This record gives sequence, C-alpha cells and structure tokens, in this order.
Amino acid sequence: MYPTAFDYVAPTSVEETLAILADGGEDVKVLAGGQSLIPLMKLRLATPEKLVDINRVPGLDPIEVVDGLLRVGAMARHNAIANSDVVKAENRTMAAAAPWISDPLVRNVGTVGGSLAHADPQGDWGSVMLACRATMVVRRAGGERTIAADDFFVDLFTSAVEPDELLTEIHVPRYDGPAGGTYLKLERKVGDYATVGVAVHLQLDADAGHMTQAGIALTAVGPKNIRAAEAEQMLVRESPSDELYAEAAHAAATAADPRTDVRGSAEYKRAVVRTFVRRGLAQAVELARSA
Ligand SMILES: Cc1cc2nc3c(=O)[nH]c(=O)nc-3n(C[C@H](O)[C@H](O)[C@H](O)COP(=O)(O)OP(=O)(O)OC[C@H]3O[C@@H](n4cnc5c(N)ncnc54)[C@H](O)[C@@H]3O)c2cc1C
Repeated sequence: MYPTAFDYVAPTSVEETLAILADGGEDVKVLAGGQSLIPLMKLRLATPEKLVDINRVPGLDPIEVVDGLLRVGAMARHNAIANSDVVKAENRTMAAAAPWISDPLVRNVGTVGGSLAHADPQGDWGSVMLACRATMVVRRAGGERTIAADDFFVDLFTSAVEPDELLTEIHVPRYDGPAGGTYLKLERKVGDYATVGVAVHLQLDADAGHMTQAGIALTAVGPKNIRAAEAEQMLVRESPSDELYAEAAHAAATAADPRTDVRGSAEYKRAVVRTFVRRGLAQAVELARSA
C-alpha cells in the first residue's frame, strides 16, 4: 500500500528543524532512517501530514568522547556504531549490540536516535541504554532537557520525546577502572527482531574483586525494554560467582513479562532470559578482568 499524501521538508539546521516542529502540532513526524516510520506509513498505521527529513542536518551524528562521556549523535547509523573504534574501546555493551541489529541494509540507514524514539520493545538499543545508564538529550525551540533512560521508555511504542521535540544525542557514561559488558540476542533467523535480548554492563573495583555497578536490561519480553533492577542490586558490592549469577538470572527472569507469540512461548522466553543473564554476567566479568 502507498502512504497517504504528506508534505515533505528537509531542513539544514537543528534550529530550522525545531522551528518546523514547533509549528507543526501532532501531525508532523521526524524522518531519520525511515526504517520504522516508512513501513508504518505504508501500512497506514502512521498518517503524518508532514515529514521533517533530518538527514541533511549537519552535526547530528558524532560518535566521540567528550567531558567524561561517550557522546553519540541521534543520527549515528547502526553500522557507524558497529564500526566505530571509539565505541569498541569505550563500551562493550554497545559494541556487542550494534551488529545484531537487523541486516546490513537496515544497519546502513537506521539510526540509534530513531530506534530509541520509536520505543519498540523489540528494539535492541533501548536495553543497551538502560543497562549503561545513558541519558538522552532532547531539544525543542528555545529549550533542552535530558532524560534518563529509565524515564525515556514510557510504554509500547511511546518514548518521552514530545511531538515538538528532537532527540539530538545520547550520553553514555564512561567507566573508570575495570568494566565489561555484552549483548546477547536470540533471533529466529538472521536479521530478525529479537525473540529475547539481554544487555549487561558491569563495573568492578580497582582490583576487580567486587562489582561496583551493574546494569541488566531485557529486550522483547514486555511492553517496553525492561531494566532488571532487583537482579542488578543483588550484584553490587558482591564478588562475582556462578551462584550469584544464577540468583540474579532468576530475578531477571521474574522481572520479564513475556507474551506467547510466533517467536515462542512465554515460558520459553523466560528461560532464555535466565540463561542469557547468567552467560552475560560471566562474559562481562571476564571482559572486565582482562581489560
Ligand atoms: C526488516 C527490519 C528489521 C529490523 N530489525 C531490527 C532489529 O533486529 N533490532 C532493532 O533494534 N531494530 C530493528 N529494526 C528497526 C531499525 O533499527 C530502525 O532503524 C529503527 O527502529 C528506527 O530508526 P530510523 O532511523 O529508521 O527511524 P525512523 O523510522 O525514521 O523513525 C522512527 C520513529 O522515530 C521518530 N524519530 C526518528 N528520529 C528522531 C529524532 N532524532 N528525534 C525525535 N524523533 C525521532 C520518527 O518520527 C518515527 O516516529 C528493523 C527494521 C527493519 C525494517
């Protein structure tokens, strides 16, 4: 099916974009990579009156270390993140997740900001940002706010970004000392959305004996990406062990809220969460100790 008719504008600066969004009301949509929005428009599940194509706005795609954090522009393509030496050096969870997103075609055009703003519970970036305690920077005409990942994912396909706002960048904390992380994903076939995904990030103390920070978040097992807070708390100030990983994995599986669908039963998905959390924690600790 073809989308319904819409106006199209392609601003060339952030300020111009914000002015258009401020004028536009609910019926204006930002177009980033188009990998989620265009299919929705073709199905007529989205019928915006105007698309604001931000692909010609410069400065929205840096991937760099600034002021003690990893700064990732909203327009950074999945593939740019997958291939970034900065990301590989700075954040194992992001580096592990990026190549799992769909296939090379989608990774070439889809953006991290589009994925987060879309708030698909099957989106891989949402769990990564929850586990890593990222904050999102959102601008509107005359203002800017930062939103913690915990507050960013509001509900199914609903993020905290308002219709007159533009997500401009994501700030991921840098980790002093030994840190490790990973992203584990089960998919039915290459390029598919997750049946289950698990993001893990861990920071250890200077002699790598105890965990000082823990991040665990789950993909595709609830109406939005879920941070397994209770499982995280079980790990902090403790020394890593298989028994502890198993207890945290059990808590994470309890936090999951999966539904039975074509990708598997709820029970099966919960079991995958349990297995992935145990495996992910062991891998993250090993990476932190070898860092
Ligand atoms: C076949 C296929 C398989 C896929 N598999 C996966 C997968 O395995 N894992 C995964 O995580 N994703 C997957 N995706 C989704 C993909 O990651 C998309 O790139 C992503 O969901 C949306 O990013 P986009 O840049 O294409 O955004 P768009 O489609 O352009 O926009 C999506 C939504 O976000 C809004 N938006 C976009 N950018 C901004 C911004 N900067 N500020 C405010 N609002 C904004 C738009 O208005 C729209 O509502 C898949 C997509 C396809 C087509």
